[in-house]
Amino acid sequence: MKRYFFTLALCVASVLALGAKSSKSGIAFADYFSGQTLRVDYQFFGNNEQQGVVLDGLSNTGVWAGRHHNLDQIPLLGNGQVEMKDEASGKVIYRTSFSSLFLEWISTDEAHQLSRSFEHTVLLPMPLAKTQVTVTLIDAEQKVTAKYVHTVDPADILIAKKHRNPDLDYAYIHKSGSVERSIDVAILAEGYDASERDLFYADAREAAKALFSHEPFASRSGEFNIVAVFTPSRQSGMSVPRLGEWKDTAFDSHFSTFYSDRYLTTTSIKKMHDAIAGVMYEHIIILANTEEYGGGGIYNDYTLTTAHHANFKPVVVHEFGHSFGGLADEYQYGDPEVYSPKVEPWEQNITNKRNFAAKWQDMIKDKVPGVGIYEGAGYTEKGMFRPADDCRMRTNAADAFCPVCQRALSRLIDFYTK
Ligand SMILES: [Zn+2]
Repeated sequence: MKRYFFTLALCVASVLALGAKSSKSGIAFADYFSGQTLRVDYQFFGNNEQQGVVLDGLSNTGVWAGRHHNLDQIPLLGNGQVEMKDEASGKVIYRTSFSSLFLEWISTDEAHQLSRSFEHTVLLPMPLAKTQVTVTLIDAEQKVTAKYVHTVDPADILIAKKHRNPDLDYAYIHKSGSVERSIDVAILAEGYDASERDLFYADAREAAKALFSHEPFASRSGEFNIVAVFTPSRQSGMSVPRLGEWKDTAFDSHFSTFYSDRYLTTTSIKKMHDAIAGVMYEHIIILANTEEYGGGGIYNDYTLTTAHHANFKPVVVHEFGHSFGGLADEYQYGDPEVYSPKVEPWEQNITNKRNFAAKWQDMIKDKVPGVGIYEGAGYTEKGMFRPADDCRMRTNAADAFCPVCQRALSRLIDFYTK
């Protein structure tokens, strides 16, 4: 699905460092963090010309499920970053990156006519001492468009404690190891009513099976935990605006995001995190109970996809390629506006040859089977290139991620688990 983009030269350096098996960060987790999760809710607001960030809320949602290493490094550049700095020493103690529906919205026609706000939530390790948190949004021209700095004092009595709902209905459908060393994925239900519990768990198992039928997830399944959480909706089915159908569902998601019929998203980010407070998760997949075709995947935000369309399996894996892997779409439809020709995109599986050496040039030199350079990628027919004739990030008919996408995903798995 069409996603906003941008990049920074900085990206290349970080990603190369990551590719070379990043050295362990000098930050010892126990020196700075309590082992709990600090959930920070923001509002991103503005229009196509001006964007801003404000704080919406702070809470403690229980045991930290994220990484305990590589703390001061970002997994990928993303379209925004969060940085935590220990106030006493000024040391950077944690970084992460993300994309947001808001950053896609600002390139739409609507954003030329009015301002809006979008929820965005990040999960951070709870600091032991006062910490400065900086959120940065970046645009296509490599400039910072919004920067927001706030201090978190872990002794603040107004950091709300969010407890797990004692009646929460959840089950591990794939359990490998400790949350500390594993990548924790939560699968949520959208548009399943109370009577459709078994259907949801069956769909969640199918989604996990689809994921683990793809490399590198297949050979590295031992590094993932997958928990399915049944989050029932009052009504069964999904909101389909083009048919005038609106349903009361757990996360208010709907098709026709930005008037694109297949684009299925939610803007109720807080509801989503509220529903699974106290569950150990880092990545979110939401399954929508419908036969309509569609989905969306936003890097380090969520994947949302329809569970009863014939292409459910390839689509859920494709969208997870966006939300977990930060991979770009490798298809094109003649829209030259999405990526800037002036900068190398940060996504690892497309290039405009501004800095091809930072991408898969080495794999071509090494004559890795199935790797080449093909024009037409990132929605653009000319000037943007993909690594393979076909790939999970290009068509539903492909049977695998291309070797470049596989390597990019493996590097991220390394980042989170090693
Ligand atoms: Zn690919």
